[in-house]
Amino acid sequence: MGNQAPSLYHYSVETKGSVHVKMDTLTILLIGAVIVSAAFLFLKTRKNSSSTPQAQVYVLFGGPGSGKGTVAGRLVNEYNFHHISTGNMFRDNIKNQTELGKKVSELIQAGALVPDEITLAMVQDALVQALNNKKTAILLDGFPRTAQQTKALIDMIKNGSLKGVELKVIYMHVPSADMLLDRLTSRLTCSNPACQATYSIKTLTDEEKASMKCRACGGELKKRADDEVESIKKRIDTFTTTEKDITDIFDADKIVTYKLDATQSIPQVYDDFVAQVGLKK
Ligand code: ADP
Ligand code: ZN
Repeated sequence: MGNQAPSLYHYSVETKGSVHVKMDTLTILLIGAVIVSAAFLFLKTRKNSSSTPQAQVYVLFGGPGSGKGTVAGRLVNEYNFHHISTGNMFRDNIKNQTELGKKVSELIQAGALVPDEITLAMVQDALVQALNNKKTAILLDGFPRTAQQTKALIDMIKNGSLKGVELKVIYMHVPSADMLLDRLTSRLTCSNPACQATYSIKTLTDEEKASMKCRACGGELKKRADDEVESIKKRIDTFTTTEKDITDIFDADKIVTYKLDATQSIPQVYDDFVAQVGLKK
């Protein structure tokens, strides 16, 4: 090593003639220009990234029939939220007869949960894609639903693919299982996959009962395949047995949680959401 350094030095000096010296001045100028523009670009990008608003993920947490999907629909329309609903994604897959749809169809109809590995992979993809598409306000509806999903979501945010995202929970609280049962047994859903608005048979007018058409899109109103009483009871049961485990994990990890009284009407729950979260147009 000690012998090689001087010979390299000699080599570079010996190859320099007067023409080369002129070329080198030009080269130095060019390199200088490249460095200055690179530094300028670097600073510009840093400035942009620091002024990009931090992405927020709002978990809509609540039992089946607590109004998550309905509140989400209004937030999407009025505040441009990006809505990720695991139930809607599974139903799309069932309708399109994808491999995933075939795997989960029977479970869903029976009101059982889809295995965590399947759900987690699907949600992680959807969240990463949303962030890549620069979505900064995301509503997560129907997830997490088990302790393992909750831990995995928090881990993605603390250490993994969603690092730096801000997580908040909107707990749509309905203390009475009977109220959930009553809402779901009288629920009708728009069969247009792009709409999926829900109605209560109890509040339809006589004309609406006769036409069974969605007010929003004209789609046909139907009972969802899993809104049969046995399946509904099973879903409510699963929720009531996992509810505390999940909220305990959020509490232990100090995830900001807003608790809404979801026994109120949808417009009242929606107004509470906007006020508590402090949304501004
Ligand atoms: P609801 O709130 O009326 O129960 P969803 O549309 O949220 O309905 O979900 C429908 C079904 O999709 C669930 O009963 C379950 O089978 C499946 N599912 C949705 N989200 C999850 C999840 N996070 N983990 C496991 N299964 C899920
Ligand atoms: Zn509709």
